[in-house]
Amino acid sequence: MSQTRALSFATRAVHAGREELSDLGVHALPIDLSSTYPLPDLDEGGRSLEAQAMGGQPIGSSVYQRLHNPTVARFEGALAQLEGADEAVAFASGMAAFTAILLAAKQKGGHVVAVRPLYGGSDHLLASGLLGLEVTWAEPGQIQAAIRKDTSLVIVETPANPTLKLVDLAAIVAEAGSVPVMVDSTFATPVLQKPLDLGASIVLHSATKFLGGHGDVLAGVVATNAFWASEIRKIRVITGANLHPLSAYLLHRGLPTLKVRVEAAQAGAIFLADKLANHPAVTSVHYPGLTGSKLVGTQMKGPGSILAFELKGGFEAASVLMKEVTLMTPAVSLGSVDSLIQHPAALTHRVVDPKAKAEHGIDEGLIRLSVGLEEPSDLWADLEAALVKAMAAVASSAGAR
Ligand SMILES: *Cc1c(COP(=O)(O)O)cnc(C)c1O
Repeated sequence: MSQTRALSFATRAVHAGREELSDLGVHALPIDLSSTYPLPDLDEGGRSLEAQAMGGQPIGSSVYQRLHNPTVARFEGALAQLEGADEAVAFASGMAAFTAILLAAKQKGGHVVAVRPLYGGSDHLLASGLLGLEVTWAEPGQIQAAIRKDTSLVIVETPANPTLKLVDLAAIVAEAGSVPVMVDSTFATPVLQKPLDLGASIVLHSATKFLGGHGDVLAGVVATNAFWASEIRKIRVITGANLHPLSAYLLHRGLPTLKVRVEAAQAGAIFLADKLANHPAVTSVHYPGLTGSKLVGTQMKGPGSILAFELKGGFEAASVLMKEVTLMTPAVSLGSVDSLIQHPAALTHRVVDPKAKAEHGIDEGLIRLSVGLEEPSDLWADLEAALVKAMAAVASSAGAR
């Protein structure tokens, strides 16, 4: 096969991180569970330990699992290829990854600028002040004005959790100037969006979601340039929020089907968004495919498979709907093969400042739906029946009052 032409994403997703398997004489990804490695030569072992403690790669031996693991490293190499990054660094969760990014940024300056809405946990971490970083919340268009001499990072999420608001990444990068931009691209995956190609410096994924895709892995991963990768890996070595090799195996195993899963789920979401937009119980649908955003088809290859909608009956209707669905699982998280439905104000975004929730549309009637791989007409039948029951419940309690 000629390697002179660039391979497509689908092909790379199947083969990335598997380059050394034939040399190893195996076909499937090996899993190395060693917590430690024999070090008969003290000089060699010491050199490898020191290189890794500084954020570098092992020289020969991995030394110890908190420093390096070959199964995790293979997944990182694969993910870096799919994001078009120099390197990737994997963590035990998305929040562990975000924490490491923030700690790395703090070495450069104690101030960050962040655009809301963000995932509730990310918002909570920034707002808590736990890491000793000062945060300025800014809207797109106000980033440049918010940047100070000690600003080390601009933080955005697109599509944003839970309102599906899109942020124009090229515009944010232009506003940020020399300050690196971090993009939480969890909702988009590298199938739909490549923030590094648009000038962002760091991409964050909660790999728990689409990358894992089957609801059985908690993980985070950062895709970035060699400089930030080294800084972030150093934090991981020091603080120890490592990804377990079995989880890395599952994540890597899922990459070849990522594109197929994302595109099939997206087709279901397009179908459901249209049905919801035309249903009398629904007052609004938040879905990048419905807003006519110029970023869909450009920044994002497609609108994705997460949508949110608001019910006429507000919180009461939302809580009935959550009880009445039978095919969709009422649960937080997203990006799984099965559909997950949840109420952001009560659950994922509960800890967000009430004023920020109100300003960013995280309302009592808002429901977030992560569309899975079930037949879309089956999903609609489930949702429609639950909507009818939700409307009836609200009507009868209004009648009783
Ligand atoms: C879930 C999520 C996170 C946090 O990831 P965990 O793996 O749960 O720690 C961060 N960002 C977004 C957009 C998420 O959906």
